[in-house]
Amino acid sequence: MQATAKTSAPRTGDAAAWEPVLGLEVHAQLLTKSKIFCGCSTEFGALPNHHTCPVCLGMPGVLPVLNRQVVEFAIRTGLALGCAVRETSVWSRKNYFYPDLPKGYQISQYDLPICEHGGLALPSGKRVRIRRIHMEEDAGKNLHGEAEGSLVDFNRAGVPLLEIVSEPDLSSAQEASDYLKSLRAVLMYLGVNDGNLEEGSLRCDANVSVRPFGSNALGTRAELKNMNSFRFLRQAIEYEISRQIDLLESGGRVVQETRTYDPQKGETRSLRTKEEAHDYRYFPEPDLPPCVVSADWVAKVREGLPELPAARAARYRALGVGAAEAATLTDERPLADWFERALPGYPDAGKLSKRVVNELVAAVRDAGETLGSQRATPETFGELLRLVDAGELSGAAMKEVLAELVRTGGAPREIAKAKGLTQVSDAGQTEAAVDAVLARAQGEVAKYRAGKTQLIGFFVGQVMKEMRGQGNPAVIGEILKKKLG
Ligand code: ADP
Ligand code: MG
Ligand code: ZN
Repeated sequence: MQATAKTSAPRTGDAAAWEPVLGLEVHAQLLTKSKIFCGCSTEFGALPNHHTCPVCLGMPGVLPVLNRQVVEFAIRTGLALGCAVRETSVWSRKNYFYPDLPKGYQISQYDLPICEHGGLALPSGKRVRIRRIHMEEDAGKNLHGEAEGSLVDFNRAGVPLLEIVSEPDLSSAQEASDYLKSLRAVLMYLGVNDGNLEEGSLRCDANVSVRPFGSNALGTRAELKNMNSFRFLRQAIEYEISRQIDLLESGGRVVQETRTYDPQKGETRSLRTKEEAHDYRYFPEPDLPPCVVSADWVAKVREGLPELPAARAARYRALGVGAAEAATLTDERPLADWFERALPGYPDAGKLSKRVVNELVAAVRDAGETLGSQRATPETFGELLRLVDAGELSGAAMKEVLAELVRTGGAPREIAKAKGLTQVSDAGQTEAAVDAVLARAQGEVAKYRAGKTQLIGFFVGQVMKEMRGQGNPAVIGEILKKKLG
């Protein structure tokens, strides 16, 4: 539980008597080159209203033309999430008025969505049912506080979205966060979404209710919006659960409404009462034929599915990778791919996974780089680890070499040499240093032999100094013990 004093509402009664129930609605922007119903570019960051045309501006008399890639991505996602793909799905108009919606309606899918009845396994093993996945168009973006008041940018209008709706199967903030994380990983593996919560290309609304433990009925829910990080998602849900429990225990009622999370205050607050489906006056879109998907097409998409994160994690586990490392590696596909490319050069998968997850990730972060921009290759990283195993580099020296390696690239052995970090494990060289130290420290040698064996640390330190810090402590200790009898 991540809640701080600031983010959890005061609790009066017995919170343990209540069971939280959560269902998530996730909107994922699809990584198509063009918009869903016109040829405009979906590229992010253009000047406002430069990626627009009469279709996505909602001019009278225009007709939408469906982008086939959108349907393919929807099938891909549906199959990866174990859904049934509907052969003939139907487009609907969802009517509402808002300045960022030029037509006055959004083209979406309603009662006959393209995918239904799937599920997603959490790392805990729990399976969360997925109710439906449908395709729709995104709205534009209102820009408030501009010189002339508020402006609207329609570059995003008509960008394709998938809406992925779970059943209310989640029962804590952590579980909701785990679900979103797993879903995000799947979407990124499939190449249908970039997983960017901060920029809003992956958005999540959480429906939150509580009910007395043991009850089967669902409580009244609030829908939380505006959570653009995993941490905010957890905080908002924690706060909302506490708020509802307090309300119910003090004799109040939860009202069905849409609430927004304010990360500064650590609170959710009401935006509007919840709209019902009939408020949108859904009806079938007359300008688009139903979306027909052949069994052949579905079969072809199925053949092209990549190995998904859960399957990959299981494969790594079988190679001897720990559960935590397998989860971290497979969270983001590039890291897993990098690990796999390092494996031939360093086949101890368990050890390699720990070094990648701990040392490499930390070094890349500390250098202010990303996995894509840093300079260590899977091959040079394996070389570095082999130097440590051979006793040529200490653990501390390895970190120093790696820090340089991720910044500049190059050969680990050369970097270690240039920095004077190579460790001398050679027995002859070490023995000479030990002899020199023992000859100088006759008094301590006598005390050691008389039983003051804790002096061993002193001797190791002296030998290390004699070897200008490049000795191998294990080799030094061994030779010392032999010589001191
Ligand atoms: P709407 O389309 O009006 O938002 P839905 O009934 O389609 O409503 O549900 C949307 C989401 O809310 C789903 O993820 C569902 O699991 C979740 N949900 C529905 N009822 C509850 C409830 N009582 N408590 C928590 N989540 C709920
Ligand atoms: Mg909803
Ligand atoms: Zn357009």
